[in-house]
Amino acid sequence: MAMTGLQIHKLLPRTNCKECGSNTCMAFAMKLAAKKVELSACPYLSEEAQQVLGAASEPPVREVVLGAGNAVRLGAETVLYRHEKTFVNPTALAVNINCDAPGEEIEATLASVRDYRLERVGETMRLDMVAISQHRGTAAAFAAVARQAWENAHKPLVLRSTDAEALTAAAAAVSGSRSLLAAATPETAEVLCQAAAEHGHALAVTAPDLDRLVATTQKLKADGFDDLVLQFQVHSPAEHYQTNVLARRLALQHGFKPLGYPVLRFLNGEDVLDDAVTAVTEITKYGSICVLPGFDPALISALMTLRMNIYTDPQKPIQVEPNVYPLGNPDAESPVLVTTNFSLTYFIVAGEIENSGTSAWLVVPECEGMSVLTAWAAGKFSAESIAGFVRECGLEDKVDRRELIIPGMVAQLSGELEEQLPGWQVIVGPQEAADLESFFSAHG
Ligand code: SF4
Repeated sequence: MAMTGLQIHKLLPRTNCKECGSNTCMAFAMKLAAKKVELSACPYLSEEAQQVLGAASEPPVREVVLGAGNAVRLGAETVLYRHEKTFVNPTALAVNINCDAPGEEIEATLASVRDYRLERVGETMRLDMVAISQHRGTAAAFAAVARQAWENAHKPLVLRSTDAEALTAAAAAVSGSRSLLAAATPETAEVLCQAAAEHGHALAVTAPDLDRLVATTQKLKADGFDDLVLQFQVHSPAEHYQTNVLARRLALQHGFKPLGYPVLRFLNGEDVLDDAVTAVTEITKYGSICVLPGFDPALISALMTLRMNIYTDPQKPIQVEPNVYPLGNPDAESPVLVTTNFSLTYFIVAGEIENSGTSAWLVVPECEGMSVLTAWAAGKFSAESIAGFVRECGLEDKVDRRELIIPGMVAQLSGELEEQLPGWQVIVGPQEAADLESFFSAHG
């Protein structure tokens, strides 16, 4: 459980020497409790204080890092609800391949996973992992497909088998890929822990019930291996949801470390709608890796969009740089539009301008990442601020046509804006960006 500032203060030297940059030890303790400073900023901590505070400052859900170059990060979560602070590491999406599938099918899926990308509000999203499952087939075939997947897709793997020997062989075949072995049972934990440690992989742990799961993670941690991921054995999506919530609550609210690990879930692939609902539940409620049964771009794009929304930091509005953006090939006579720097607003307006086939200049003043109406209500998208930005951004050197198209939502700004921008005519544009194409047709 997180320590309070007072509890932390009792462990500090209390000399108020200021070397940490805070005026007093109490001020430092309060900042440490709020996770605004690093423990190492105080050079005078006793060994006991370092141990206690170091353990307390670890996230209640351990961070496990997978992939060469630490490509995929899991866990490290500190809150139950996104709006309390933020969720940290997005649910990794993996695509499953059965190792006994036909060779051409395996190759095609690997190529699809490797090449897939989704552009949204200026970000490029890709699939995170590939899962190789051994339900049938030999250990050698399993290891060979694992190797092929690592070489072709360059993504960390989830290696899934109930055969500890096969998992050990596959672990050796992709040594250095920093993948995940799934899964060790209480009976196979020791041998698979050795394989994971020897080849630099993480280990998923599963057990028929939570008591045995807890006993297994405790034993592995006591033996010095802590790169663990939980795989719950449940009988329904509802039970999985409840177990995810239970584990996360125990880890966050009660500091219960044996369940403070990322969570792995395989979708069963029997029904696409059930899979979609389960994947949504994983993304919204604490899933760390969600393995999809196959490559389905419609499902993947919907899940990635949801994931982006859930894992965006609610305290930091997503925004684009204030600027004058050329869309298409605008010239001195092209239309000039203005909008705010909230990313979603910018990309919707820019997308509609591009779709219309009209080249234009899009003027985006600083609005602290707010949408049009919010920025207007907050006084961040006012006649004065727009006019000031238009004068300073160099737009008047780029265009001869002195017409500024403002969003229809803030039509009331037009009179004052014309007063602030002598020589410019302010035109009220459509309320919705989707109507820009017809607006351009009507206004030339
Ligand atoms: S450096 Fe340490 S002892 Fe000095 S004021 Fe900061 S917390 Fe206190």
